[in-house]
Amino acid sequence: MNDTDDSDRELRVSKIRNGTVIDHLAAGQALNVLALLGIDGSGGESVSVGMNVPSDKLAKKDIVKVEDRELSQSEVDVLSVISPEATINIIREYDVIEKKRIERPEAVTGVLSCPNRNCITNADEPVETRFVVLSDGLRCDYCGEIVREDEIATHLDVS
Ligand SMILES: [Zn+2]
Repeated sequence: MNDTDDSDRELRVSKIRNGTVIDHLAAGQALNVLALLGIDGSGGESVSVGMNVPSDKLAKKDIVKVEDRELSQSEVDVLSVISPEATINIIREYDVIEKKRIERPEAVTGVLSCPNRNCITNADEPVETRFVVLSDGLRCDYCGEIVREDEIATHLDVS
């Protein structure tokens, strides 16, 4: 355990057998990612979080590893808005079987709630939220309300 090779920095956060590694998160986003995934520890998931880990690509980064969980497309879409540099690795039996580079989507559906109380998505209607992705935020497709990038975390609609 005294190996200080650069590539072993990754190992500061323990390896997982099956699940998802979300790497190269902008420093400070790890907790938002946990909120996005609806993880607060009560579900019994095995989760490793690294914050402000030294990185070659970014000066500092956050990393989140979640056992036995793969991300839905909506979750990936929101992730791409809050942390465009993030990478997603799907792990099976300790091997990376798929690397996903996330792309900024045109819209995200069903993961954020609209801050406008009068929006139809906040009425008791069976309407899923939909936000159009702008360069610096998101716009509700129903009422036009804008959610700025730094406000996204507080509007995550996680159950
Ligand atoms: Zn709205």
